[in-house]
Amino acid sequence: MKEKIWLSSPHMGEKEMVYIQEAFESNWIAPLGPNVNGFEKDLETFLGNNVHVAALSSGTAALHMALILLGIKAGDEVICQSMTFAASANPIAYQGATPVFVDSEESTWNMSPEYLEEAIQDRIKKGKTPKAIIVVHLYGMPARMDEIISIARRYEIPVVEDAAEALGSTYNGKAVGTFGDIGILSFNGNKIITTSGGGALISTNAEYVHKARFLSSQARDAAPHYEHSHIGYNYRMSNVCAGIGRGQMEVLPLRIKQRRSNYQYYKKAFAAIEGIEFLEEPGKSYFSNHWLTAILIKSSNFTREDLRMCLNENNIDCRPLWKPMHLQPVFADAPYYGNDTCARLFDIGLCLPSGSNLTTTDLERIVSTIYDYVGVPI
Ligand SMILES: *Cc1c(COP(=O)(O)O)cnc(C)c1O
Repeated sequence: MKEKIWLSSPHMGEKEMVYIQEAFESNWIAPLGPNVNGFEKDLETFLGNNVHVAALSSGTAALHMALILLGIKAGDEVICQSMTFAASANPIAYQGATPVFVDSEESTWNMSPEYLEEAIQDRIKKGKTPKAIIVVHLYGMPARMDEIISIARRYEIPVVEDAAEALGSTYNGKAVGTFGDIGILSFNGNKIITTSGGGALISTNAEYVHKARFLSSQARDAAPHYEHSHIGYNYRMSNVCAGIGRGQMEVLPLRIKQRRSNYQYYKKAFAAIEGIEFLEEPGKSYFSNHWLTAILIKSSNFTREDLRMCLNENNIDCRPLWKPMHLQPVFADAPYYGNDTCARLFDIGLCLPSGSNLTTTDLERIVSTIYDYVGVPI
């Protein structure tokens, strides 16, 4: 059996160990310290737009914190993109609130502005104004933020951007995650950069970020003893993990180039195959980090499952797209608005190996495995 090719594996630069070493030498082995501060600064500089950053223990924790800051309580309704990873929606349930799922639109695969507005109007008619909107930038592709933000403003509903997969992506030249009231990032092992596990809450509202730091380190009031006037969480990032993050920030621009170049490679290679379509930037306002290269199989000769099994048999990792949340058993009772665009995408969509550490040999092997299967001459 040939060596395994992974979907998206961690890719260290050169400086991560230096920052970790510093943490050990100074004994900052805690969920605070110079690396945490440094990593937050690095992210603030990279994202621009006067954004403030709180480094947390995961993207999921950051989403949970975002909903807490927006005051989401039991019985509230929160709108969420249906096609996403479960971590986008789970924090709604942590708060005892109800998710209301919204379909995707064809060009970005992200939240459909049309169904978003339909959902808002219908929920209001049924007696509850949704308390927040969670929009996701899947696979690095920016959602239609102009329309989504303008709808949200019209109904005065705050927006949380799940940019876990989209660090480095921009819309109209502005970093995704900085359009809404609060954004979140993830540094899980499979993301474009990693801290082994970690996340961040980002906002142009300094008050939110200040409060996120306070609540995520157990909400200790200023007193010599342990005094608490709020429920706290243990969600802060460790100074050791933040050391990895500082090293990774030095190679982030390169990682974006590498992921985008994987996408270009596949695009060129599959141009000759009928029935393979790509998730593409729909226009000049969109810049995707192409975290994962995702394709749709629209061929009469082979299906998504054919290709998935063929790649897996050759020890090449690949995945169907995220299964929509409104089709998940755990959210079976949640309201949903749409015409099943996301379900259709799920049926025919596949994520190809997309790590920034793929070699040309790896890419050639993936492409020739698919060529062999579909019978295109090289
Ligand atoms: C990875 C991911 C998350 C969760 O991030 P963690 O750091 O793994 O908790 C949330 N949303 C999306 C869309 C993701 O891909």
